[in-house]
Amino acid sequence: MIEKTIKRNATTIKVCPTFPCVSLWLLWLKICVALPLTIALSSTVACGKGTATTASAASKSESTAKTPAPPARAPDSAPLPHIDSKRAFQYTREVTAFGPRYMGNENHKKLEHYILDHLKGDQVEDDAFTADTVEGKFPVRNIIAKFPGTKDGIIAILGHYDTNYPLRNIGYVGANDGGSSTAILLEFANQLRGGGSGKARDGYSVWLVWTDGEEAVRKWSDTDSLYGARHLAEKWEKDGTLKKIKALMVMDMIGDADLDIDRNTIGTPWLLDLIYAAAERLGYQSHFYAREGPIEDDHLPFVKRGVPSADVIDLDYGYNNVFHHTAQDTMDKLSPKSLEIVGDTILETIHMLDQR
Ligand SMILES: [Zn+2]
Repeated sequence: MIEKTIKRNATTIKVCPTFPCVSLWLLWLKICVALPLTIALSSTVACGKGTATTASAASKSESTAKTPAPPARAPDSAPLPHIDSKRAFQYTREVTAFGPRYMGNENHKKLEHYILDHLKGDQVEDDAFTADTVEGKFPVRNIIAKFPGTKDGIIAILGHYDTNYPLRNIGYVGANDGGSSTAILLEFANQLRGGGSGKARDGYSVWLVWTDGEEAVRKWSDTDSLYGARHLAEKWEKDGTLKKIKALMVMDMIGDADLDIDRNTIGTPWLLDLIYAAAERLGYQSHFYAREGPIEDDHLPFVKRGVPSADVIDLDYGYNNVFHHTAQDTMDKLSPKSLEIVGDTILETIHMLDQR
């Protein structure tokens, strides 16, 4: 994913939108992030070609901000959800232990089998294709697990499982970026399976999607990023699935021990608010939305097609995000508690969506 502008309290930190590559991240941070500007978010969109997608997507989401949010419901008597955070953390450890997992490499294939092994008996669908990229052709494989519900409609939860091709030779293992998202979805599958009874869940169908090719193969752009998600959005538009999606939520970088989920303004305001309300019910609201700004992630192709979407991401990983896309993205930076905070909040959000 890539961020353009993140606002912290009353201060807006304007981030250069077209930083050249990951290796210049630190230099870029020094140049750009050291310039806190107290200008409004809306005044930062005219930053040239690189921001066009985000600017339009961001302004789209801002325009929908005028739509009144549905009234908040009184808390119901259902027990609050609780994931097995130890198990989710262990999944993260095992996924990370495969090493670099860029599209098509051996470790990636091993991880595909690992995910499928954990979905035995579930309804699983493949969305596989070949991506033609600036670095050549890559096999891309989204893995979809479907948990049917009694209500008409789908809640989709996405999380990417690939790691960066450009970082393949630096010992990059993506514990948080790639690992945590893969793991939390595996734990969601355990929770949704309902003890293997095979019974439809009491609510909407929930589809879990392990997306592939989220990362750029060279440099983030509209055409070099989000390979799996763009393909799936197009496919679901054609086959009519998109119309059935009530809400789509992306999990990304949610394992940071110092958890601060950003309010990603590329997204649907009422859904962002609902996630916050779910966090409030669990007493976790202090971990949500201290910062806000537009971040491009797997939800973007769906936002563009009008699907109610939200990206649950903490893009402040280490001081000034220094661990992001570096060899320092390792297990010691993560915490089971963070997986629990996000996991419980999203399960509660699903419950609240079911009640609507
Ligand atoms: Zn990444």
